[in-house]
Amino acid sequence: MVFMGDHEAPAESVAASWEDPALAGGILCIDLAALVANWRDIARANTGAETAAVVKADAYGLGMEPVAKALVKAGCRTFFVALPQEGAALKRALPSARVFVLSGLPRGEAGFFQRHQILPVLNSIAEVEEWAAFCREREVRLPAALHVDTGMNRLGLAPDEARRLAERGELLRRFRPELIMSHLACADEPGHEMNARQKALFDEIRALFPQMPASLANSAASLVWPEWEYDILRPGIALYGGNPFSGRPNPMRTVATLYGTVLQVREVRRGETVGYGAAWRAARDSRIAVLGLGYADGLFRCLSDTAGGPAHVFIAGQFAPYAGRISMDLAAVDVSHIPPEDLERGMRAEVMGPHVSVDELARWAGTIPYEILTSLGSRFTRLYTPTGE
Ligand SMILES: *Cc1c(COP(=O)(O)O)cnc(C)c1O
Repeated sequence: MVFMGDHEAPAESVAASWEDPALAGGILCIDLAALVANWRDIARANTGAETAAVVKADAYGLGMEPVAKALVKAGCRTFFVALPQEGAALKRALPSARVFVLSGLPRGEAGFFQRHQILPVLNSIAEVEEWAAFCREREVRLPAALHVDTGMNRLGLAPDEARRLAERGELLRRFRPELIMSHLACADEPGHEMNARQKALFDEIRALFPQMPASLANSAASLVWPEWEYDILRPGIALYGGNPFSGRPNPMRTVATLYGTVLQVREVRRGETVGYGAAWRAARDSRIAVLGLGYADGLFRCLSDTAGGPAHVFIAGQFAPYAGRISMDLAAVDVSHIPPEDLERGMRAEVMGPHVSVDELARWAGTIPYEILTSLGSRFTRLYTPTGE
């Protein structure tokens, strides 16, 4: 940890100071041992397949490089990212990793993939043709994946395009198709009829590409249907401790814990208000703790005004509701029920973690844990607890 404690400090030390918990408005602790244990749970439940990891969007907000390095130590070799730049960054950090780029091949950019040794997930005939042409021109057979759309209508070859492609052996032989994959729209609801429909279509298309390893399962599918494991699993959210299911208990361990620093504890008299819009009024003489993080850090403003009343934090061993609107850098909580001697400037309140789960935050905010995690801000002090290996 580098901290220059000097107002004349050069500009580089400003970045370094984010590492100092004593200065932090918010501290994000990432439990790499829990992450690895979540990954192993999925690997153990699917012993016939390789368990990869989806680390797009900076590993769902938790830090792509430390996350991927911990997983590699545990035995993970294949990663999926969304964007080419994410892939290049990951490959630079982990040269031995196999990195698939889900968003596909941008026009004219095959050279970028070759240079960085990352694999495009080819989403259309045009992308397949461009990759094959590039390989022919360079006289190399570069690896790539094929994505078949089985009902999501987002990215991927339409089933008919895939059927036609299967007949173009000369095109497929120009490169090295290492994977055929599809993505489920409703795996978070295992009872949804769409799941079986997508799987049946995937099986039909896949049979046309008999040599290619296959991949269908995201987190939810990896956990509920071991028989859908195919050759490679693509879990994301479950690794990071978010619930991959809607309406079922979360089977995963908590990975991310966010603390807000108490900047000030203040007394608010009955009838006074707290925060913008004077939206919270003290019904009695109250005590308020002001935390050093806000919506600029991913603490959604709507959390202070949810349908079931405001969301809460966990502080001094008790829950405390938000009081007034969450602002850009600050959030106030009502700690009137907590003895004043238990509260002090500089202490931490758990904003998200074992007592206030990411799933609960998501429910309050009317969203999913994916959005809570990927919205986490960039100005926390981030502490990674080691994997213990
Ligand atoms: C994001 C993503 C995943 C991971 O999904 P989770 O629900 O987070 O497990 C898998 N496959 C594709 C194509 C994705 O875009």
